[in-house]
Amino acid sequence: LLDLRGATVRFGGRAALDAVDLAVAEHETVCVLGPSGSGKSTLLRAVAGLQALDSGQVLLDGRDQARVPVHRREVGLMFQDHQLFPQRDVAQNVAFGPRMHGATRPEQAARVAELLELVGLPGAGARPVAALSGGEQQRVALARALAPRPRLLMLDEPLGQLDRSLRERLVVELRELFGRLGTTVLAVTHDQGEAFALADRVVVMRDGRIAQSGTPLEVWQRPADAFVARFLGFEN
Ligand code: ATP
Ligand code: MG
Repeated sequence: LLDLRGATVRFGGRAALDAVDLAVAEHETVCVLGPSGSGKSTLLRAVAGLQALDSGQVLLDGRDQARVPVHRREVGLMFQDHQLFPQRDVAQNVAFGPRMHGATRPEQAARVAELLELVGLPGAGARPVAALSGGEQQRVALARALAPRPRLLMLDEPLGQLDRSLRERLVVELRELFGRLGTTVLAVTHDQGEAFALADRVVVMRDGRIAQSGTPLEVWQRPADAFVARFLGFEN
């Protein structure tokens, strides 16, 4: 579904993404791990079209996305700091994508109801976003990212601001949800437990490059190098 070829993004003299090749197959869940500043968010932003490449290509279904404007890309991105519209209610937040794609009001309302059900917040449409807990806000952000039915759903630290017990519960729910919807997912996380629970494949980044890509078991049992081993918490 997604194919990155030699994707490079430079800020000043430094490459935040350094000739990255990455393929994500339909229905696959890929989790990107790596230290702060390794280029994880830049990778997602480049795929979403929010960050231009200095060289290389982003292909979706084999089509080069270079000239495809952000709002026409069939990808959904849930931001690291989820960026909900705080003055709007839940329904307005979730309906944002469908509205941008020209859905009618009844279509928007139906989609909102369906998605709030899906993320476990049925009937919450009229609640102001500012009055929701952190976990509820993350669910709303997830519903918003899913709303335009993206071919590829990208999540940047989707559970970042939640406490451990809520994270653990949501990881299980998300895995089940993505399986049921057949969603293709590219997710960034700091938390390797989360990545290993969610992912079909794990990608470890270092300084804008992919240090290792493999199934959770492969990466865990055979870290590609000392960096990956250290990152996973092994001594030497
Ligand atoms: P974190 O885990 O902290 O979110 P990350 O892996 O998502 O980190 P990125 O946000 O992709 O890291 O940043 C990669 C590198 O690019 C960092 O060194 C960062 O400072 C730099 N960078 C990112 N965005 C910009 C920008 N708009 N202008 C200049 N430098 C940037
Ligand atoms: Mg980031």
